[in-house]
Amino acid sequence: MQSSNLKGKTALVTGSTSGIGLGIARTLSAQGANIVFNGFGDPQEISKLQSDVAKEFDVETLYHNADMSKPAEIEAMMKAATEQFGSVDILINNAGIQHVANIEDFPVDRWDAIIAINLSSAFHTTRLALPQMKANNWGRIVNVASVHGLVGSAQKSAYVASKHGIVGFTKVTALETAQSGITCNAICPGWVLTPLVQKQVDARAAQQNISIEEAKKSLLAEKQPSGEFVTPEQLGALVAFLCSDAASQVRGVAWNMDGAWVAQ
Ligand code: NAD
Repeated sequence: MQSSNLKGKTALVTGSTSGIGLGIARTLSAQGANIVFNGFGDPQEISKLQSDVAKEFDVETLYHNADMSKPAEIEAMMKAATEQFGSVDILINNAGIQHVANIEDFPVDRWDAIIAINLSSAFHTTRLALPQMKANNWGRIVNVASVHGLVGSAQKSAYVASKHGIVGFTKVTALETAQSGITCNAICPGWVLTPLVQKQVDARAAQQNISIEEAKKSLLAEKQPSGEFVTPEQLGALVAFLCSDAASQVRGVAWNMDGAWVAQ
C-alpha cells in the first residue's frame, strides 16, 4: 500500500543494505519518506538499490558507508544526511551482528564489536539526531532490539546483553523526550530469515547433518511457537505505525513480533 504520510520527512536506517533494515527502508519510502541508506555490500548493488527505491516510490535517497562501530564515521554520516536533507526526522537503529559461543570461549573482539554495533551506535546516532528533532519538535526513533532484549538464550551473551541494553536505552530516550513531539520505541523481532539467521540455519544443518529445510523447522520449533518466520515487510509495517500520528503516545515500549516466542 502506497501513501504519503511521511512525505517530506527523512528516514535514516542503519544497516539497510540487507534484511530487516532494507524491509523497513522500503516501507518508509512507500510512505513518502526520503531514505538515508547505510550498511555494507557491493557498491554497484547498493547504488541499484538506491535508484530502484527512488524510482519506485518517488523519493530521494542517499547512501553512507559509515561503519557503525566507529563514532567518527557515524558523525560523518549524520552530517552528510543533514547537509543533504536538512535533518534526520526518523531514525531507525537497526544495524546489528551476532556471534554464537559459550561465555568462556567468546572471542573478546566479537564481544566488543557486538556491543559497539548493536548498542553504542544507537547512542551516537541518537545523541546527534536529538538536537535537530527537538528544534522541529517532531521525531521518531525506533530501535531494532530483539526478543533477546526481553529474554536470554544460551551462547548469545554479547547479543543478549546488547539487546537488553538497547531496550533500556529506549526507555531513557522516551523519558527524556516525553513532553515533546519525539517518540522512541524498540521493536523485538523473533526469528526472521535474513542473512544473519541463515548463518545459524546453515551451522545447525552442518552440525546435525540435516537438510537446510529441516534446520529451519527445528530452529523455529525450539523457540517460535507459530512455526513461521516473521518477515521484514511485517516489521516495516510495525515501524510505519510507530512513525504515524496514531502512535504519538506509544513511548518507551519494547514491542515484540515473535510468533509467541516470549509468551511462553
Ligand atoms: P542482516 O545481516 O541481514 O543485516 C544487517 C545489516 O547491518 C546489513 O545491512 C549490514 O551491512 C549492516 N551492518 C553490519 N555491521 C555493520 C557495521 N559495522 N556498520 C554498518 N552496518 C553494518 O541482519 P538482520 O537479520 O536484518 O538484522 C538487522 C537487525 O535486526 C539487527 O540489529 C538484528 O540484531 C535484529 N534482529 C534480527 C533478527 C532475525 O531473526 N534476523 C531477530 C531479531 C532482531
